Amino acid sequence: MLKGHREVLVSRETIAKTVAEIGAAINRDYDKNTDRPLVVISLLKGAMVFTADLIRTLNMPVRLEVLVASSYGDGTVSTRQVNVKYQSFDSLEGCDVLLVDDITDSGNTLKAVGAYIQQYNPATVRYCSFLDKPSRREVDIEIDYIGLDIPDEFVIGYGLDYAGQYRELPDICVIREGDAQ
Ligand code: 5GP
Ligand code: MG
Ligand code: MG
Repeated sequence: MLKGHREVLVSRETIAKTVAEIGAAINRDYDKNTDRPLVVISLLKGAMVFTADLIRTLNMPVRLEVLVASSYGDGTVSTRQVNVKYQSFDSLEGCDVLLVDDITDSGNTLKAVGAYIQQYNPATVRYCSFLDKPSRREVDIEIDYIGLDIPDEFVIGYGLDYAGQYRELPDICVIREGDAQ
């Protein structure tokens, strides 16, 4: 449980508006005249909630896949080592892949996942991150779709966890070391 006051950083209303804007940009960008399927790959578990909202704003056929990437342990500091696990019976060969993550911090996760997915020979790979902490970037990566830039704070809610908790919160809230118990 959180002790005392919980500070909302991004309200559910702003979340909904931002998801709609990202979806509109994706709808504008992808060429509906190709017969390449758009494969949305959601990075578990953090991006589950965002991905569920995002795909329902898209006006093209979507194939949904999931991938597990982990770099954070139970704490709030990245270990830089990214473990990637992707498994599907369906091929990515010749597909337009959109990698969807909840938040980008150092950029190590999206960079590692992007490199990993190349072995499946997709036609294109683009990146989408609901939140971004640009001040924390350690690697050079161009993210095609970003919802909101946020300051260097640890956030929870809307799929984002602290030690496995708080993913169910409908708003995105700031948590500081010492707030959790
Ligand atoms: P990166 O590899 O870009 O440093 O970190 C990306 C991953 O770290 C995100 O997918 C997310 O799982 C985790 N992460 C980074 N910042 C936060 C944060 O403020 N809150 C939570 N819950 N996870 C974060
Ligand atoms: Mg993550
Ligand atoms: Mg996490």
